[in-house]
Amino acid sequence: MAKKVRVRFAPSPTGPLHIGGVRTALFNYLFAKKQGGDFILRIEDTDQKRYVEGAEGYIVESLNWCGIPFDEGPGKEGNFGPYRQSERKELYRQYADELINKGLAYYAFDTPEELEAHRKDHESKGKTFIYNWHNRLKLKNSLSLSEKEVFLNIESGMPYSIRFKSPQDETLLLNDMIRGEINIDTNILDDKVLFKSDGMPTYHLANIVDDHLMEISHVIRGEEWLPSLALHVLLYKAFGWDAPEFAHLPLILKPTGNGKLSKRDGDKFGFPVFPLEWKDPKNQTVSRGYREDGYFPDATVNFLAFLGWNPGTDQEIFSLNELIQSFEIERVNKSGARFDPEKIKWYNHQY
Ligand code: GLU
Repeated sequence: MAKKVRVRFAPSPTGPLHIGGVRTALFNYLFAKKQGGDFILRIEDTDQKRYVEGAEGYIVESLNWCGIPFDEGPGKEGNFGPYRQSERKELYRQYADELINKGLAYYAFDTPEELEAHRKDHESKGKTFIYNWHNRLKLKNSLSLSEKEVFLNIESGMPYSIRFKSPQDETLLLNDMIRGEINIDTNILDDKVLFKSDGMPTYHLANIVDDHLMEISHVIRGEEWLPSLALHVLLYKAFGWDAPEFAHLPLILKPTGNGKLSKRDGDKFGFPVFPLEWKDPKNQTVSRGYREDGYFPDATVNFLAFLGWNPGTDQEIFSLNELIQSFEIERVNKSGARFDPEKIKWYNHQY
């Protein structure tokens, strides 16, 4: 039996939602609803340093304003919650331990200073420092800590992180629904941290564990996560789980077409890049949003749908239901989508 379609939008509450985030949410929603699937909101708040007060509320309010309802998420608990990762901390540690027990992850005691010294040393020789198990064995004698001793005495309070042991000398064949096949040589991979010395999981571990436990069938997210795909696929393999299918959405480019659209472009060219007004809790600056500029939610959604997707016909005006019927992930472009502030104005005049 085919798996039920379940997708998620998994923002980190590190500030206001940029339109790129709303576009990711929209594409997930359209994909799910076309196939009678579920759309889940998961708040990825394990990075305490980057946590910003008010960001989660802003995300929920933005989705509501756009008319993109989620089926499960904070405040709408389904069977797979809680949907805030900070409320699932204990769970992730068990999974990190499972990989240690299988010999697929290890305790790493390097201090930030040691890591920095190795990086600098390699750089001075014109090389990139790839932190993997293989290279670590070579470095071992130069580490100031005798890891073996510490390893046997974990309770000594020595801080450590848990790293994934990337396989050596393998070629991974990855598949992306938008980009097709991608080959990766595993020798270029760093052994990424899964669990930090502060007792929190990293994004990679928490994300994989949750996607598996929440029975996510398709991961649709921004292109910036493409470099993490190999690690994620390897983690699924290490746990013995089936990986979901992946689709990485193209970047949103500046109006000039050069480089990624940023908040500063909005300030510079005089258009909002956030769906709603955002008051920065730290320095109290205010960024205006589409609501404040008088844009209609339907016009905004229609504009966003065309950022990297097209229906293959001349039709430009779509209701949300029509978008659901017409949306095909295979019709999403690989190349970046230029943000045209005139186009959103045009859409607003049509509604
Ligand atoms: N928390 C990640 C972000 O903020 C989610 C990436 C993903 O969807 O896997 O973009």
